[in-house]
Amino acid sequence: MNSSAKQAMIKVKSTKTKLIPSKLIPSPQDSASAGKSNIRCSGFCPRCNEQHSLPAEPARQSCLELMTRLEYRQRIDLDSTPDRAEPCFSTKYLFGPARGKMFGILIADTPDNKRVELRAFSGQYNGVWQVAGWVGPVFDLTTFHKIHDHRERKIKTAGKQIDALEKGAQQQKLIAKRKKMSQQLMRDIHDMYRIKNFQGESAGLQQLFQQISLTGRGIPTGTGDCCAPKLLQHAVQHNLTPLSLAEFYWGRTNASATRRHGCFYPSCEAKCSLLVGFMLCGLGD
Ligand SMILES: [Zn+2]
Ligand SMILES: [Zn+2]
Repeated sequence: MNSSAKQAMIKVKSTKTKLIPSKLIPSPQDSASAGKSNIRCSGFCPRCNEQHSLPAEPARQSCLELMTRLEYRQRIDLDSTPDRAEPCFSTKYLFGPARGKMFGILIADTPDNKRVELRAFSGQYNGVWQVAGWVGPVFDLTTFHKIHDHRERKIKTAGKQIDALEKGAQQQKLIAKRKKMSQQLMRDIHDMYRIKNFQGESAGLQQLFQQISLTGRGIPTGTGDCCAPKLLQHAVQHNLTPLSLAEFYWGRTNASATRRHGCFYPSCEAKCSLLVGFMLCGLGD
């Protein structure tokens, strides 16, 4: 096991319940819309033609403790001492223009029967994929930078050239060229996401979203970047057996007002259902 994997794995130290400030406990109204029983992590498995799921408890309890820590520390680099805290990991970021994001905890058993907790945030945190103490993305970060960085620069340069040009044939040509570059980059990034399951299989996003692709809707942006797939992928890669998974939202309400600060939500339907269904096959109930 490498060091980042160790960092991402937090041993469950005690089962003592800590006091949670009352304002952090979702109100009855929130509980009705995202109640305890419906916040489980689940997905549709095309192989079994049914839902597979993991219970939210006891991970939900661990999430409440994480909320308390986020509330008091006001940052996500929780393993760093205050003098080494990075400004970019402050939770202020979640209450600004970028708005909040989902956080999640997976409780799992190691092959030698030790109980561990893994935590994840959705997508990038302030432009950063990997933060100590949190699981990383489902793809290999070195490969990502190799595929992404130089082409992203090219696309940006093309954008500047387009802005500098007068409207006309030459500008149109460059716009078309940039679009092609972006689409190819997106496809190559999607190809990097190899979703693994606990039966030793792996699948690409194109494969999992085949049906949806046929309708012409395409794979939703950010697929594979939610907490649930990140946590389950990390568990597969490190031979852990997942027991429970819960996800909550932290920060300024999202633009569509479907996510509120301190509330729990089930794994999302649009992006995660097919991924989670595939990942949990043969494992959950
Ligand atoms: Zn999701
Ligand atoms: Zn199945």
